[in-house]
Amino acid sequence: MRLRFISGVGVVAVAAIVAGCGSEPVAQVKDTKAEAAAKLQKTKAAKVAAAAKAKANELGQIPVLMWHRIVDKPATTDDRTPAQFRADLERLVKDGYVPVTAAEMVTGKIDIPAGKHPVVLTFDDSSPSQLTLDGTGTPQPGTAVAILQEVAAKNPGFRPVATFYVTRDMFGKTNRDEQAQMLLWLKNNGFDIGNHTRDHHNLRGRTHQQVEEQIGGIGKEIGALSQVKPVTIALPYGNQPNKKEWAARGNGYKHAGVFLAGYTPAPSPFSRSFDPLGIPRIRAMDKKGDCAQFCSTAWLDWLKGNPDMRYTSDGDVATVAYPKFKAPFLRKAFKTYALPY
Ligand SMILES: [Zn+2]
Repeated sequence: MRLRFISGVGVVAVAAIVAGCGSEPVAQVKDTKAEAAAKLQKTKAAKVAAAAKAKANELGQIPVLMWHRIVDKPATTDDRTPAQFRADLERLVKDGYVPVTAAEMVTGKIDIPAGKHPVVLTFDDSSPSQLTLDGTGTPQPGTAVAILQEVAAKNPGFRPVATFYVTRDMFGKTNRDEQAQMLLWLKNNGFDIGNHTRDHHNLRGRTHQQVEEQIGGIGKEIGALSQVKPVTIALPYGNQPNKKEWAARGNGYKHAGVFLAGYTPAPSPFSRSFDPLGIPRIRAMDKKGDCAQFCSTAWLDWLKGNPDMRYTSDGDVATVAYPKFKAPFLRKAFKTYALPY
């Protein structure tokens, strides 16, 4: 996306010059060339001004929030009630966040309006409380997907997108037709499907072959049912295999990002601190007990209080905009797209 846009500008300029060469006097060609350069300069100046106005910081941190079950009667410290989940989302709206998927984040396609902050919504373990369809193929009220769609409908601009990390549990469906229906519903409604391993085993200490079977097994199953190749994986319990590369690449799978379970906001994919093999997430939970500091309410408060640490978009997916003094944190690979101000 970004590449195509950048080269597009080049193509326009070259086309203007080539057209000039064929049919017009040399002076005219020079003018056209100078005009094109001036126009590019002007565009850049306008982009810098826009980035400064938005206080863009595309090297800032991104909260990747993690939910498990959304149930009326929480049974574990991971569960949220439908009302709590709705409040979680409403807080994100109020704080100026716009959801992007895990796949979009790790590939740098963070296409949100100027001044807004990306957030990644992730759901682990593919339970029926996240997605259950009624007889007409509509998400049942009270499920995570239904609540997310309701909040998005009431708040234009809040994209109803999320990443579902799937195991063989497949939203409680055991029949292959029904499993396919669930995955295809997600795919056809703009949701992202990620790998959470077949049996949800702790991968630490397992052989390379066992790790490949666990990850490749569900990866192939997701592909067979929905023709989706997961772009990212979330590791069960956040535990990396003995060699962390095993989670990213193996027989039948290739992931652009590997997500952990805790306990901090994630570095921007354009930042030097970004490690695609170990991207932290944050448990969605109130500021109490063991969540006093390291779960979502605490971190969202911190990001709000430290705006210079938070990712803020300049509204242009083709650039990586940031205040000049942050330049040392830019990943070399993104130098071409840099827009310091
Ligand atoms: Zn899990």
